[in-house]
Amino acid sequence: MAATWSHEPHKVLKFRPGDRVADIDTDSSPGFSGDRADAETVLAERTERYAELQEMLYANGKSGRDQRSVLLVLQGMDTAGKGGIVKHVVGAGNPMGLRYTGFGVPTEEERSHHYLWRIRKALPPGGHIGVFDRSHYEEVLVVRVHNLVPPDVWEQRYDEINAFERELVDAGTTVVKVAMFVSLDEQKRRLAERLERPDKYWKYNPGDIDERKLWPAYQEAYQAVLDRTSTDYAPWFVVPCDKKWYNRLAVTELLIWALKGLEMTWPPADFDVQAEQKKLAAS
Ligand code: ATP
Repeated sequence: MAATWSHEPHKVLKFRPGDRVADIDTDSSPGFSGDRADAETVLAERTERYAELQEMLYANGKSGRDQRSVLLVLQGMDTAGKGGIVKHVVGAGNPMGLRYTGFGVPTEEERSHHYLWRIRKALPPGGHIGVFDRSHYEEVLVVRVHNLVPPDVWEQRYDEINAFERELVDAGTTVVKVAMFVSLDEQKRRLAERLERPDKYWKYNPGDIDERKLWPAYQEAYQAVLDRTSTDYAPWFVVPCDKKWYNRLAVTELLIWALKGLEMTWPPADFDVQAEQKKLAAS
């Protein structure tokens, strides 16, 4: 039998006050005792479970009986694996129930509004899973590290973000925040691969090298995010990402956990099933 979780991912990965970003072992696989081959076996089965629950969320939204939603927030340095989660984990579900948004440098129009304006516009409708590939947290990460606004401006954003997420949760959105951590060495290896393979050039951005020099400042900014915005209603999960198979498995489990927490059932038929069967047989 394939090795499985010794500790539930939503417990073992949850950020705890006092946890230090500098101490994260990015090559570890907390709570999972197996190796890559075990993970692949487990993942195949759990991906199906995820897809089933995600479809149930969509079915309930579509039937109008339940307008709750789930928002997956992915934050991580370049090459941490955000794209892999989108493609392999969330992408295994029904695309009709998915709302994906990647957040890049704000456009001129976006910049003319409050920073949460573009975020609000991208929130998942009822019955959907929203995926934020980067998010409002860039406002206290890249913005803080590059001094894009004065400290007294970004400083107040932590509280503002907490209030915003409180509002989302109160409105029926389960917020799953995943902070993805890769080591500086593993990032170098992944960037080198992008430079060696023509099919990966599109992922390469020369600016990524400059960001590497700012690693300590990013570590500090991530620490502040975790310390100040991990709340009981919207906690952060800290996921080591040097092993791709581990982060995919972990995020799959976090999504299953979030969806199971909604305690859904399939929407009942709003028609007489037997009568319809008879009518169909006679048609
Ligand atoms: P990624 O680097 O996520 O793979 P990408 O290279 O395709 O994505 P985009 O998605 O277009 O690039 O943009 C990502 C970049 O935008 C990141 O460098 C990120 O730090 C930056 N960014 C995101 N939000 C903001 C923001 N609010 N202010 C400034 N820069 C931001």
